[in-house]
Formats: sequence, structure tokens, C-alpha cells
Amino acid sequence: MPRALPAAAEVVIVGGGVVGASAAFHLAEAGVDVLLLERDELASGSTSRAAGGVRAQFSDPVNIALGQRSLDAFERFAQRPGGEIDLVQNGYLFLLDDADDVAAFERSVALQNELGVPSRMLDVAEARRLSPYVRPEGLLAAAFSPRDGHCTPEAVVSGYAAAARAHGATIRRHCAVTGIDSRDGRITSVRTADGGVRTEVVICAAGAWSGAVGQMAGVELPVRPLRRQIVVSEPVPDLPPDLPFTIDFGTSFYFHDEGSDTGRAVLMGMSDPEQEFGFDTSRSEEFLERLSEVVARRAPALSEVGIAHGWAGLYEVTPDRNAVVGEAPEVGRFLYATGFSGHGFLQGPAIGEVLRDLVLGHTPVVDVSALDVRRFAESTSRPELNCV
Ligand SMILES: Cc1cc2nc3c(=O)[nH]c(=O)nc-3n(C[C@H](O)[C@H](O)[C@H](O)COP(=O)(O)OP(=O)(O)OC[C@H]3O[C@@H](n4cnc5c(N)ncnc54)[C@H](O)[C@@H]3O)c2cc1C
Repeated sequence: MPRALPAAAEVVIVGGGVVGASAAFHLAEAGVDVLLLERDELASGSTSRAAGGVRAQFSDPVNIALGQRSLDAFERFAQRPGGEIDLVQNGYLFLLDDADDVAAFERSVALQNELGVPSRMLDVAEARRLSPYVRPEGLLAAAFSPRDGHCTPEAVVSGYAAAARAHGATIRRHCAVTGIDSRDGRITSVRTADGGVRTEVVICAAGAWSGAVGQMAGVELPVRPLRRQIVVSEPVPDLPPDLPFTIDFGTSFYFHDEGSDTGRAVLMGMSDPEQEFGFDTSRSEEFLERLSEVVARRAPALSEVGIAHGWAGLYEVTPDRNAVVGEAPEVGRFLYATGFSGHGFLQGPAIGEVLRDLVLGHTPVVDVSALDVRRFAESTSRPELNCV
């Protein structure tokens, strides 16, 4: 028998990915009565499909700040909220083959250094020493930050969820939110298949499905789903121990080491320029062919390794590939944090803190006012350049 929903909650969070789970933890820790509703399993949306990359190498100062604050949290995750997340900090290495990109990365690295990020530009020989699979033909330079890396997304969600429960949060899986009611511009309740819950505060953390959740409250969130695919190799003998998360910026092909039960392997992904928006998460042969061509060109030794498995998931994309975070003007106390366009996992810890602060009316730990959704209506979009 499913347990009955609470009749009321101070805050209802829609979505149990990294953003919802982090928000639930930070709010519950602050003493707020939180109910998180997830229509499937926790982390079953984009979070479990992520490559797990965590970094502070961005072009936008808000993303740099969110990335850095989240890196702090990932590094201390075992103490707070608790749990093993398999954090590997071998750095992120961006390979650059275009003079304009080199100039843009030089500007970003200077900004990152000003904000305390230990990133630097490298020549091609240094990049190759760090990431020996790279074929250097055509490369001009690289950017590297040793503190970046990757960790296990599902472990991060379960760590936050367990600690949120321990602080008194209620988390319900297999409970879809079907409606959000308001009166005189204020939220009054959420509806679910299992009944209604009175609340005055809703947080939309519904990832690629946020557009539909926004509509329930009459709020337009310009977030569209875009399929992305990943493959994981068979175990690779003699994989370099310090292999960085390596990104061929011109093609968006990336790879990093991936632990598996049978040995260390390589996880590879790439954007697909032919991909259209939509909720399809099937795997495609065409993608594999396109990926193979790029791998053969940029990291030919990886063409030799067998593919063990793979998956597809959804980026939640906004028009400027930057997140939307804030409180809707149309309806009071509808907060949203979505549209992370490929960097939502790594921002999850800091965004959870920001959401706590917005709910409590405190000054947020990171100023996210530039990510307010109204920027699109005001034509002040804010493109993030360091995305693939
Ligand atoms: C292939 C791939 C690789 C990626 N790699 C990286 C990476 O290396 N680093 C990085 O930072 N990011 C990466 N991302 C992006 C990252 O996965 C997302 O930005 C992040 O997981 C978003 O988290 P979320 O909690 O907002 O959304 P989600 O994890 O999608 O969670 C939203 C949840 O809301 C639930 N939901 C939706 N509607 C309802 C409803 N009506 N009622 C109840 N529940 C609902 C869904 O079931 C879902 O579980 C990658 C994404 C993909 C697809």
C-alpha cells in the first residue's frame, strides 16, 4: 500500500534529480518542512544519464561561481551530506583547434583565475602528455584545470536524499505532480494522482520536463529536451591513471576514465549536430557512426577498444544554453531551477543552496539574478561558451 501523502508541506519540490534532491537536503537541513515528489525513481531523469563531469571552467562568472561552490561540496560530500560519490579529480582538458576559440578560452581562463580557479592554457605537447590518447594534428592549444573531474550522479542523489530524510524531509517516488493550483496569484496546493497537498511554495526541478510543470502554474519556462548519447568501452588495459576529462572542443567529442566491475574503461560522448529537439531516448546507429569517425581522427587508439554498453538521455536546453533559476513573477512562490543545458549535474550542490536561500528570503550564496527567466523577454540572453 502506498503511504498517504502529507496533507500539507511548507515547500513541495517537483522532481527527484540532482537539483530536487540537493534542494530537499539544503531546505530540510535549514529546518523547512519539505515534500519532494518524483514520478519515477530518484535520479531516473537526466541525472543518471550524465557523464558525471564536474568543473569550474566556464566563460560566464555565474557558472564559474556555481561550479566552484559545487566542487567544494563534492570534495566534502562524505562529511556533508554523507556518502561515497567516487570523485576523481584528474582535471578537465579542452583541446582547441581554432584561433578564435583559443582567444576565447584565454579570456575565460583569465576570468577563472581572477575568481580563484586554478586553470591554465597549455601547449599541445603538454596536453598530449596529460591525455596520451590525443592525436595532436590540427590542435593549436588547450585549457586545463586540475581541480575539475567527475563523480557518480546516482550516488550524489542518494546521498542528498538520505540526508534530507534524516533531517525530516518526505520523499515520495512514483508520484507525479499533475496540477498546481493558485488563488489571487499565490500557490495554494499541488495535485497528484495520489491526492492533493496544500502548500504555498513550489520548486520546479523537473529537468527536461520543466516546460510542462511550468505550464501547470501558468509560467513559461523555455526548456526543450535534446537527446545526447554516451558509450562505455570494454575494460582498457594500461589506461593512464591520471587521464583527464578530455574534450575536443571543435567536435564536442569527449572521454574520461570510468570504473567498472571488470576494470577501468573509457566513457565517450559527443553532441550530434543532426539531433532535433524531442523526448526520444533510444540509441541510434547514426550517432555511433558519427562518433567513430571523430574518435578515429582525434583519439585513434580508442577506436580499437570494444564498446560494452551505452545509453541516451536528455539535455534540458534553453535558448542561450544557460540555466534559468529564480522565482516567477506571474505567480507568487513558484521557484524554478532548470534548463542547465549540459551542466546541471555539476551545479546541483550550489543550486540546492541557492534554492534554500530563495525560499527563505535570504541573499543567495551565489547571485543568480542574471539567470532569471525574464532575460529572454528582455532580449538579454547570456550565452555560455564552454559547453559541448
Ligand atoms: C548524456 C548526458 C551527459 C551529461 N553529462 C553531464 C556532465 O558531465 N556534467 C553535468 O553537469 N551535466 C551533465 N548532463 C546534464 C545533467 O544530466 C542535467 O543537467 C542534470 O542532471 C539536471 O538535473 P535535474 O535534477 O534538473 O533534472 P533530472 O535529473 O532530469 O530530474 C528531473 C526529475 O523530474 C521528474 N519529473 C518530471 N516531471 C515530473 C512531474 N510532473 N512530477 C514529478 N516528477 C517529475 C523526472 O522524472 C526527473 O526524475 C548530461 C546530460 C546527458 C543527457
